[in-house]
Order: sequence, then structure tokens, then C-alpha cells
Amino acid sequence: ENPSVVVKKAEGKEFSCDLVIEDRPVPEIDDDDVLLEKGSVGICGSDVHYWTHGRIGDFIVNEPMILGHEASGKVIKAGKNVKNLQVGDRVAIEPGYNLEADDYAKKGRYNLSDVFFCATPPDDGCLMKYYKHKANWCYKIPENMSYEEAAFIEPLSVGIHACRRANITLGDTVLITGCGPIGLVSLLVARAMGASKVLMTDMNGERLKKAIECGASETIQVTREQTPEQIAEIVEEKLGGKPNITIECTGAESCIQTGIYATKSGGCLLLVGLGKEMANLPIVNAAVREVDIRGVFRYCNTWPIAINMISSGQIHVKPLVTHRFELKDALKAFETTRRGEGVKVMIKCLPDM
Ligand code: NAD
Ligand code: ZN
Repeated sequence: ENPSVVVKKAEGKEFSCDLVIEDRPVPEIDDDDVLLEKGSVGICGSDVHYWTHGRIGDFIVNEPMILGHEASGKVIKAGKNVKNLQVGDRVAIEPGYNLEADDYAKKGRYNLSDVFFCATPPDDGCLMKYYKHKANWCYKIPENMSYEEAAFIEPLSVGIHACRRANITLGDTVLITGCGPIGLVSLLVARAMGASKVLMTDMNGERLKKAIECGASETIQVTREQTPEQIAEIVEEKLGGKPNITIECTGAESCIQTGIYATKSGGCLLLVGLGKEMANLPIVNAAVREVDIRGVFRYCNTWPIAINMISSGQIHVKPLVTHRFELKDALKAFETTRRGEGVKVMIKCLPDM
């Protein structure tokens, strides 16, 4: 028996897809694979989006697709070429990998290659009891690390990649727009990399409270009535100067505008949030003040360091887990994320210490 959480195209219903738990065959492994019993799986906004909208940009759910890409598990079988893992090892799963050793992969930027990626059509995700994955993209976790923390490495990796691309260092002042899971992990990483002050904005007061709990120095509860210039001014007042780095984690056009106005001349704006294809931006303002605008796409080379950061206590992700469900209650878990309750919803398959 292998319960699996699947989205299927649905016509003329409230949501573009049906979300169902289906019994799938236990996967047969190849020589380079491991078979895993699932530990924990976090639910991501994109999983919910495939359910409710049936697509993200050009990635369309045409065939039934298993959801889930933030996961950990226990090795229960290893293919004959597998050297890095043994049966019984507990692992964090990196859900995306390059399919060819192309120029990007050769430079270590394999996130820019043509990739397999869990729960991005047409690739199935890993929210199922028994799941196979390439052993090379599974990382053994230490005894003191829970399955839940191991699953959290996926969203944490987005924060690590964004902060690395921003070159955050000692004494930096940082603005983060949006206090969802991605804004909050960016906060944790920015602090760990030495940022002195991190100011966070959101419209949702509960999420701002969470930001303070996670180490934000200041927050601003923004409203739709405020203009980006006004918000940028409040940011400057609160920080006692413009932040040299802004990490945009909402995808909202107005927040990208705020990010440009708010960032110090010569500083850097990171685009993590993904919103609409076209945006209207004060681009001359950015140009004449040499505010660099940088893209962020997922991550690369983050799992080993994320394991060190979490297991050494340098970063605490546990406060971000606000809801926990068993696999049989997966649909309730998705409802919770869809309603925007809490921060990270986890599905627990194997018990944690
Ligand atoms: P989320 O929806 O949980 O969080 C977004 C937060 O932004 C919410 O708390 C919301 O209240 C806030 N917000 C929305 N509009 C705002 C506004 N105008 N001003 C201030 N706050 C506002 O999403 P998440 O899971 O944290 O992800 C954040 C973004 O990052 C999404 O756009 C997602 O698609 C993107 N993302 C990008 C990558 C990447 O590789 N670049 C990876 C993961 C997620
Ligand atoms: Zn995700």
C-alpha cells in the first residue's frame, strides 16, 4: 500500500484540479536509486497553486501529478551502485537535479540547467509513503536532526541562495518584503550571515509577529493605501538609513517598486517572489543609483551547509512549523495552507524524536 497525494485536472469545478489520496505501486528502484520511506513533507504555496489553479506559468497539470517537494525519509532499499547511503540512513531529499552535465552544471549552477524537479509538471513529486530518488541527491542527516527539520531544508535553501546572491555580510542592513515561509527563512539566513538589522514588511499582523519571534529587528504593517515611496521612507526612518540589501519575497509589483526606492545607492535588490510576467518598475531610479537587481531561482549547493546550520543550532527552523498532520489527513493539511493559516504545514509520516 502506497498512499500518494495527487492532483488531477478537473473541469467546471471550484478548483482547476481535484486533490486526492491514491494508492500507487511501490516504485521499483534502478541501480543509482534509493527507496525511501517518507519522514516528513512540508506543503509549499506552489503545491496548493497546482491544486487550485492547475498551472504555474507554462507548467501545466495535464496528467495526474503527485505533489510535494520538501521532504525527508529513511532509506529502506539501495540500488547496487549506491555508495553514499545505506539501508537505515535518515536523509534530506534535494528535489531537483540537472539532467545533463551542461555548461551551467559544470559551473555548479545546476539550478539553471534543464532539471528534473519534484511536483513541477510533468515530474511527479514525493508526497507518498514510499518514494524513490537518485541516491546522489539524498543527504544523510545526523542523529540530532528531525525529519521535520530535514524537510525544511528545501525552503531554507531558497533563503540561503538568495542571501548568498546578495553577498550578505557583517553589519549589513536588510529589508525583506513578505513574511511568508520564504521571507522568514531569508531572515534566518541573513541573521546567520551577519546582518545587523533586518526590517520586514507584510500586511498580515500575525505573520509580522512571527517575524519578530524569528529575529526581525523591526516590522512595518503595510496597507494598500500606502505608496511604495511612502513605505520606502518609513523603512529609511526605522532603520536610520536605507538598507543596502532588499530581498523581495512576495512577487507583488508594489513590493518590487518599494524595493527599488528603499535600497541604498550601490546596493542590491533580490527578486525571490515570483508574480506576474510583466511589471511596471521605477527602473531609471534603480539605474542612476546603481541598485543591482538580481534574480533568484531556487538554489544550488545548499543541502550540506543547511544540514550543518540546523544541526549545529546556528539556525532554528522549528518555530516556523505551525501545523502538523498525518498523511491520511493530507487534504486537511492542504486546506490549512490554502487558507493561509500559520506558516509551514508539515505532513508527518515517520515519528520524530
Ligand atoms: P506566501 O504567500 O506564504 O507569503 C507571501 C507573504 O507576502 C504573505 O505573508 C503576504 O501577506 C505578503 N504580501 C503579499 N502582498 C504584499 C504586499 N503588497 N506588501 C507586503 N506583504 C505582502 O509565499 P511564500 O511561500 O513565502 O513565497 C513567497 C514568494 O516566493 C512567492 O511569490 C513564491 O512564488 C516565491 N518563491 C520563489 C522561489 C524562487 O526560486 N525564486 C522559490 C520559492 C518561492
Ligand atoms: Zn516550494
